[in-house]
Amino acid sequence: MMQPSPKQGLSTRGVWGGKAASAPEGATVMPVFHGVTFAYEDLDEWRQVAEGTRPGHIYSRNTNPTVQVFERTMQALEGTEAATSFATGMAAISNTFFALLSPGDRVVSIRDTYGGTNRILTEFLPEWGVEVTLCATEDHEAMEREIGRGCTAVYLETPTNPTLKILDVARLARSAKEAGALVMVDNTFATPINQRPLELGADLVLYSATKFLGGHSDAMGGAVLGARSLVERIFRYREINGASLDPNSAFLLSRGLATLELRMERHNRNAQRVAEFLVGHPAVGDVFYPGLPSHPGHDVAREQMSGFGGVLAFSLRDEGPPDEGRLHDRIGRFLGGLRLAHRAASLGSVATLVGPPSVTSHVELTPEGRARAGIPESLIRYSVGIENAEDLIRDLDGALQEATDS
Ligand SMILES: *Cc1c(COP(=O)(O)O)cnc(C)c1O
Repeated sequence: MMQPSPKQGLSTRGVWGGKAASAPEGATVMPVFHGVTFAYEDLDEWRQVAEGTRPGHIYSRNTNPTVQVFERTMQALEGTEAATSFATGMAAISNTFFALLSPGDRVVSIRDTYGGTNRILTEFLPEWGVEVTLCATEDHEAMEREIGRGCTAVYLETPTNPTLKILDVARLARSAKEAGALVMVDNTFATPINQRPLELGADLVLYSATKFLGGHSDAMGGAVLGARSLVERIFRYREINGASLDPNSAFLLSRGLATLELRMERHNRNAQRVAEFLVGHPAVGDVFYPGLPSHPGHDVAREQMSGFGGVLAFSLRDEGPPDEGRLHDRIGRFLGGLRLAHRAASLGSVATLVGPPSVTSHVELTPEGRARAGIPESLIRYSVGIENAEDLIRDLDGALQEATDS
């Protein structure tokens, strides 16, 4: 069996990190174990597995061999002690909160978290007696002040969805450490290829595996990684809560991890090319991409990321007196003019995905909530796939032309 080592490159770990000698019949790929339950002839052995003193599986809500391959590969990629998996990214995030927080605790976070996370922070945690303070996303001084007032956890997401704001993880982790708070980072946009929050001082890193990790928009999942003591507590809660990753999805996600570094290199390159094209286009207003030197978070991103990711956002230039009908019509014509993009929610697929955040990532928020989070209704999020960059640029150019022809 191949032992993953932190000295290995990320593509080696993505391919070999989860490989176990336990695949039956010498199979080089762990099959999908659909079986829900695992049988034992020997009562003592059964008891030892159930008590966790001997490796093995009891019931697939707790552990499953196919799911374990995904967890081990993630663990190898992240270079950490422990990993656990979930049915979705939101299950990973909510299980982490509910496993580690108690009534009376305080969480400091930012306004621009993923829509579902924002709902947990603003609705469910307060109902459960947890105080939540959300700071303006790029205001690091405000975050440090709030962290300094004392808190249990600091919850970060960077780059943010959908305007790609950048948080300085090392800086915020330092003030969290002084306050004795846990640092949790949603690393979905960056992946372990582009950003390594645990090495920047975070305690836990969280993922929606549905996005870049799986990479093909055909399986949902989530993961949480970090020190064994923390991950174990989250796993103990998830076992009972039941938000377990399905073995079929785990198989597809593990296949995705094998090409993660290759895909991210292409996503990074394509997004940079597309962003630079959009910046110079007369029909385009603001372009949000951390790889652009004009982006307010560019310097921090260059320090803490090894690639700027595959997601960007932009607005269409709209001159003349404000007119919601005209803008809506333009966005409709632009989206309708694209041939190489699914007009769909989600991101991080091999295929380009495009949509306004008001119907995708932030559909859970009201227009007022979106305005408070700094998301204009005219914004378009563009998740750049692994297609040929020249083809994408030609496609965008044509659709921008259609949007502006009157
Ligand atoms: C999609 C997403 C989530 C939620 O993941 P699901 O798999 O859809 O539950 C959480 N955080 C970020 C940044 C996301 O993009």
